[in-house]
Amino acid sequence: LRMPDHPPTAEIVSVGTELLLGQIADTNAQEIGKLLAELGFRHVHRQTVGDKLEHIVEALQLALNRADVVLTIGGLGPTEDDLTREAIAGAAGERLEVDPSIVAHLRKVLAERNIPWVDSQSRQALRPKSATPIPNPNGTAPGLICPKGKKSIVALPGPRAEFLPMLRGPVRDHLLALSGGETIVSRTLRIVGVGESIVEERVRELIGGTNPTVAPYAHPGEVHLRISARARSKASALKLIAPVESRIRELMADAIYGIDDESLESVLLDLLRVRKQTLAVAESCTGGLLGGRITNVPGSSDVFLGGVISYANSVKVAQLGVPAETLRLHGAVSRECALEMARGTRELVNADWALSVTGVAGPGGGSDEKPVGLVYLGCSGPGFEEIEERRFGGSRESIRIRSVVAALALLRKGLLSVG
Ligand code: ATP
Ligand code: MG
Repeated sequence: LRMPDHPPTAEIVSVGTELLLGQIADTNAQEIGKLLAELGFRHVHRQTVGDKLEHIVEALQLALNRADVVLTIGGLGPTEDDLTREAIAGAAGERLEVDPSIVAHLRKVLAERNIPWVDSQSRQALRPKSATPIPNPNGTAPGLICPKGKKSIVALPGPRAEFLPMLRGPVRDHLLALSGGETIVSRTLRIVGVGESIVEERVRELIGGTNPTVAPYAHPGEVHLRISARARSKASALKLIAPVESRIRELMADAIYGIDDESLESVLLDLLRVRKQTLAVAESCTGGLLGGRITNVPGSSDVFLGGVISYANSVKVAQLGVPAETLRLHGAVSRECALEMARGTRELVNADWALSVTGVAGPGGGSDEKPVGLVYLGCSGPGFEEIEERRFGGSRESIRIRSVVAALALLRKGLLSVG
């Protein structure tokens, strides 16, 4: 048996009209995707196809032409629209045969569940002549591993409780044997306060690399740099990643706030917790989104005290003590108002640090002087006070999300600057 060229290529074919109609999300393909990445497969295409025999056969043929291993999801049950077995036989050019071991399994499971035997059940005992069934301890239809020359088709059932154990057990072993034992490990460096193109410019020397690879991904208000290395073990992959990570840290300096799945707000809460300091907010155009994002982090209550959603000017004046004069002279969307809001909520709530947001989220309400997207962020803390003016593009939703991230980034700047 010749090993496929390394790294081997894998392709998923998800079967089900309900996927195409958007009635369910393809969470099973997501699980396979993660496993393929972990095992170091090349994975460049994925297909979704409805419950129609000729379409499934076509999808499998296309996948077999370009991949070493094809994984199907769903369509293994007893009903008329479960056609994956027939399609695999068609694509592999094989006949379906009854597998007595599967018949025995079906009879046992149905008896246990007190389900009478009906003829359609026996469809699940069919398999292409050269296929090996994958036992399904959690359901009726077994999975299948069907060789096709040097390649193979692996069929998995759709229901999650049957799919996951099969994927993580026997299918993982099958893939591991094909993969030549390589693994891909990724580490994500999370950056705030620097735009995507500037990040790319600064780390350009690393972006052409092949092992590890370095790739930037833009998120609202943030950029994530993913470093991925391929090696025979996780430890050796991490060894490849380490020098590249150090170099990126030199190039990006303070802009990196966290790694992997650490969020900006959770990192800030940790910084404040260590200093035994507290936080308050005053929100106008974000209407509570900032506080919402902070309180989404479990345990935020030791640090976050609360604040004011001062959407109307009357609330800015009455609750936060913004002088009516400030509003009259400069308007609610102004440097001056943002400063008064931050100071006001800090005092009202008696917090060490306070953030404020005021801006024009649109789509209406903009003017030449104060266009949609103009936002002022304020931060007031011990030994730090700063107002930032930003001009965001995009939809109302995007302006509001970017405002939240910019406010958090300003707090980070304050915390770093006072040590
Ligand atoms: P059954 O024996 O239940 O018919 P099956 O292998 O034929 O199983 P399908 O009929 O294709 O699988 O799907 C059964 C159920 O499994 C779906 O209704 C859905 O809830 C879930 N499912 C199917 N495919 C997926 C998928 N790609 N991701 C997540 N869930 C899925
Ligand atoms: Mg089915």
